[in-house]
Amino acid sequence: MQIGIPRESLAGETRVAATPETIKKYLAGKHTVVVERGAGAAAHYPDDAYAQAGAQLVDSAQALGADIVLKVRPPNEQERRHMKRGAVLVGMLDPFDPAGIAQLAEAGLTAFALEAAPRITRAQSLDVLSSQANLAGYKAVLLAANQYGRLIPMMMTAAGTLKAARVVVLGAGVAGLQAIATAKRLGAVVEASDVRPAAKEQIESLGAKFIDVPFETDEEREIAQGVGGYARPMPAAWMARQAALVAERCRQADIVISTALIPGRPAPVLISAETVQGMKPGSVIVDLAVERGGNCPLSEKDQVVEKHGVTLIGLSNLPALVATDASALYARNVLDFMKLIADAEGKLAIKQDDEIITACLMCMDGKVLRSA
Ligand code: NAD
Repeated sequence: MQIGIPRESLAGETRVAATPETIKKYLAGKHTVVVERGAGAAAHYPDDAYAQAGAQLVDSAQALGADIVLKVRPPNEQERRHMKRGAVLVGMLDPFDPAGIAQLAEAGLTAFALEAAPRITRAQSLDVLSSQANLAGYKAVLLAANQYGRLIPMMMTAAGTLKAARVVVLGAGVAGLQAIATAKRLGAVVEASDVRPAAKEQIESLGAKFIDVPFETDEEREIAQGVGGYARPMPAAWMARQAALVAERCRQADIVISTALIPGRPAPVLISAETVQGMKPGSVIVDLAVERGGNCPLSEKDQVVEKHGVTLIGLSNLPALVATDASALYARNVLDFMKLIADAEGKLAIKQDDEIITACLMCMDGKVLRSA
């Protein structure tokens, strides 16, 4: 089949869905590949490299007109118009946006949203949420360190000793754990909170302190286990106890990295406006949950703002700031997914009994099959 790699059109989206490395693999898998000119430029994969890998460089309409289109973001209206009915679309298509999925169905696309893949061992190599959240957690700490008017590590100098920065990480999933590891590598004193009891051991194994919000009822303990590795909304009483503890830890902190999310829901509010008011001047909050409403009501999407002397970084697409590596990992995720839907002859073979395929398949033949 012919695979098309268009250039991403969303503002600030610097990633690309295939790299010269994965193009070679598609060609070895008996596909042909067309790449829109400039598709990889923002991620530092030049057209020449795609051509050398064996891709044909084309214009936007030709890349979108392929049998299988690999993207990072959902196609906009204009892009959908260039796509063939019956074409396969693979990307991060936002399964929690029913209106967006309905548009893909109306366009007659067979669309796979990779974010919907189950968190099972077999799906790890195509887990786009993990590959991208890992980079976001790393970059969040570097952005905070850059913004912070002090140093991160303890430093003894002839002119006196500088204290190590105190970093609080809220939410210890993939992004949070990488943020903890990165902050530790820079020499910070780190503590972290998560609702899932399993996170305690992971936080401590990275050398950080677990901020323990004890459970007071069996219901709280049961809900905190989550579903399929994901968190569920906690009862109000637990959230209130957590908020009090988080406020206290934030008052001591220099940097707060918040990553707490609950799939398909607005992000839980963990850092209230009052908590920000109580923080030290010059401290920094990076709100990685900003796209889902934010863990802090004062953070603003895609803005860096200062409120009550605290800088709030609300950039929503941190992987796009490390586009070369983010694209390399994403492209490998997509390649691994493609192995599930194409046979050795490069023909489509969508196995409807494969749980990864059924979880990701959002629409086909004009019908919405599921939204997550
Ligand atoms: P996520 O991005 O959905 O959420 C980030 C974190 O926020 C989660 O750890 C969640 O528990 C936490 N959170 C939610 N509400 C909170 C609150 N009120 N206070 C504090 N923290 C709160 O999660 P994720 O990073 O996608 O990871 C989810 C889980 O999936 C993790 O357990 C991760 O280890 C697991 N995982 C498994 C696999 C696999 O086995 N294939 C792959 C990747 C991730």
